[in-house]
Amino acid sequence: MSPFTSKNFDVVVLGAGVIGVSAAYWLARSGKSVCVVDRQPDAALETSFANGGQISASHAEPWANPSAPSKVLKWLFDDDAPLLFRPKLDVHQWMWIARFLVECLPQRADRNTAEIVKLAVESRTRLREIRAREGIHYDERTKGILHFYRDRDEFESARHAAELMKKYGCELRIVDADEVVKIEPAFEEKKREIVGATYSIDDESGDAKKFTQALAAVCGRMGVVFLYGAQVVAFDADCEASNVRSVELRTPQGYGSIKARDVVVSLGSYSAPFLRPYGISLAVYPAKGYSVTIPFNGANGAPAVSLTDDQYKLVYSNLGDSLRVAGTAELAGYDLALNHSRCQAILRNVQALFPRAGKFEAASFWAGLRPATPSNIPYVGRTRRYRNLWINTGHGTLGWTLAAGSGKRIADMIGAGEGADVA
Ligand SMILES: Cc1cc2nc3c(=O)[nH]c(=O)nc-3n(C[C@H](O)[C@H](O)[C@H](O)COP(=O)(O)OP(=O)(O)OC[C@H]3O[C@@H](n4cnc5c(N)ncnc54)[C@H](O)[C@@H]3O)c2cc1C
Repeated sequence: MSPFTSKNFDVVVLGAGVIGVSAAYWLARSGKSVCVVDRQPDAALETSFANGGQISASHAEPWANPSAPSKVLKWLFDDDAPLLFRPKLDVHQWMWIARFLVECLPQRADRNTAEIVKLAVESRTRLREIRAREGIHYDERTKGILHFYRDRDEFESARHAAELMKKYGCELRIVDADEVVKIEPAFEEKKREIVGATYSIDDESGDAKKFTQALAAVCGRMGVVFLYGAQVVAFDADCEASNVRSVELRTPQGYGSIKARDVVVSLGSYSAPFLRPYGISLAVYPAKGYSVTIPFNGANGAPAVSLTDDQYKLVYSNLGDSLRVAGTAELAGYDLALNHSRCQAILRNVQALFPRAGKFEAASFWAGLRPATPSNIPYVGRTRRYRNLWINTGHGTLGWTLAAGSGKRIADMIGAGEGADVA
C-alpha cells in the first residue's frame, strides 16, 4: 500500500518494536483505525530482535539502586564488567548519569521498584489475555524465573527487594541450593557454587521477535496498516494549537506525510533525539546490551527454566531449539558494533555453568540498544506541548516484560482523551 494514503487515521504509532505493536493491538481492539510506521522492512528488527526473552516482574528492581554507585565505580575500568560507561562528549549522556545517581537514593529506588512491579504484573495479565485470545506462539515458557546468587551478601539484600515486590503482587519464593536443583536439574554439577535463589513461579519467557511479528500479523487482520521502510523524519506541528498536524516520512518512493488524530511515539532509543527539536526532553539514553544464541537439538544440558545470574548480570531463556543468554550494558552512544571480547565473555560464562548446553561453536551474537531511563520507569502518557502527541517509550531493561501492559495503558488514555503529562 502506498505510504501516502489519503486516509486520516485515528492513531499513528511510530515504531514497530514490541512496544509500538503492543500499543497498536490494544488501540485496534478499542475500535480505532491505526497505522504503524517503521523504517525497517518488518516488525521487531531493532531492540526487540534478540533480547533475553524474560517476562520478569521479578526483575523490577532497577539498575539505579543504593548498591549501584559503588559497583559502577569498581567496574569503571574493567572491560568485561556487566555495566560499562564509555564517556563521550555528549551532554545527554552526562545528564542521564547524573539523574541515574539521584535515582539510586533508597526511597527513590523503592518507589521505582514498586511502580515497575505494578506495571509488570499488570502486563503479565495482559500478555496472557493476548495469548489466550489470539492463540499466538513465540516459544513461550511458563516455568517461572530462577534468580540465583553465588554471593551471600547479594542474596541477603535480595530479600529486601523480594519483600517489596510481594507487597505489589509479585510472588517471590526464597529457595536454597537443594531446591534450586529440584527446580532446574541442569544445576546439579554446580550446586556448590549457588548460595540460594529467588523463584518467581508466575514469570515467563519467550521470543520477543516472534511475539511481535505474530501480533503484527494479528493487527493486520484487524485492519491495522503497517508502513514499513518508512523513516519518520519530522512533525508538521502547530505550536499555537498544541497539535501535531501530520507526520513526515521518507520512503524509497520519496517523501510524504500521514495524518492522524493522535500520534504515539515508540521509537525506542531514538525517541529522545527525534523529539528534542520539538522542545520535548526525554531522559532516554541507549544502554547497549549483547545476546548470544546457542542452538541445540535433542538431549542437551541447557536449563529449561529461565534464569538470572546475579553475579554476571546475565539472563537465560530456553527458546525450544536454542538457549538465549543476554546481558551487559554499555553507555556508549548509538554505536551498534559487536564487541568481540564482551560476546566471548558471555559465552565463557555459559560454558562454565552449563558445559553441555548446546553447540557453542555455532553460537550467534547480537547487540541492541535498550531505551533506558535513569529510573527504569518508562514514559507512558501525553506531552504537555502537543495535546495529541503521546509517548510510550523508555522501557529499558524490561521492554518485553512491560509491553502488553503499557500498550493497554496508552490505548486506554487515548480512548479517554486524557492521561498523565509525562514530558
Ligand atoms: C541485550 C538485551 C537483552 C534484553 N533482555 C530483555 C529481557 O529479557 N526482558 C525484557 O523485558 N526486556 C529485555 N530487553 C529490553 C527490551 O528488548 C527493550 O526494552 C524493547 O525491545 C524495546 O522495545 P521498543 O519497541 O521500545 O524498541 P525497538 O524494538 O527498538 O523498536 C523501535 C522501533 O522504532 C523504529 N525506528 C526508530 N527510529 C525510527 C525512525 N526515525 N523512523 C521510523 N522508524 C524508526 C525502529 O526501526 C524500531 O523498530 C533487552 C534488551 C537488550 C538490548
